[in-house]
Amino acid sequence: MRLLLVEDDVMIGEAATQALRDAAWAVDWVRDLRNATLALGGSEYDAILLDLGLTDGDGSTLLQQLRAKNNRIPIIIVTARDLASDRIRGLDLGADDYVIKPFDMDELMARLRAVIRRKDGNASPILSNGIVSLDPATHEAWTANTERMLLPAREFALLEILLLKPGKIHSREALETGIYGWGEEIESNMIDYLVHAIRKKLGSSIIRNVRGAGWYVNVSVPNAG
Ligand code: CA
Repeated sequence: MRLLLVEDDVMIGEAATQALRDAAWAVDWVRDLRNATLALGGSEYDAILLDLGLTDGDGSTLLQQLRAKNNRIPIIIVTARDLASDRIRGLDLGADDYVIKPFDMDELMARLRAVIRRKDGNASPILSNGIVSLDPATHEAWTANTERMLLPAREFALLEILLLKPGKIHSREALETGIYGWGEEIESNMIDYLVHAIRKKLGSSIIRNVRGAGWYVNVSVPNAG
């Protein structure tokens, strides 16, 4: 899934980008409001991590603009401002969560998973179409016929995108956009390679292909394991 990180502190930005990419997020990092607005105009994101104190203004301006347009994208404010009044204001302006620096990276990622789960209307932390199940917290996948197994970051990222919308066909470009952030080299045939690797582990019928259109997982079947 694709994440926009708005952060002017280089050390925090670099560390967060690396940690999030290691955890299979496609991360685009911008350092000011102007570039955040440009990025949002050019790409679809699944969530935003938003600093407040930026060189060209306050992050809450962007938050207000997005909510005024009824944009429902999950937004977590990540800031050094730790007063209760700041937290209350941020949440009341439409942030989904508020994290104070210095923050624990694992906790931030758990909060990201939670806001995305809520946006997609899932109560369960496990993604499943009744055939294949995936745990976003541990990156483990399993079926009725296989043990739980840990998927490498990009195999996890691809299966996660498919399982968030069972039945929906995702094009090669859409999958690449969800897996690779800016500056990450996309090798040709990488999607084919990842699909092949997942099928080999979990079963050849787990991921379906529509020639020329893309890939999907079957719609949910209740009580099928
Ligand atoms: Ca800042």
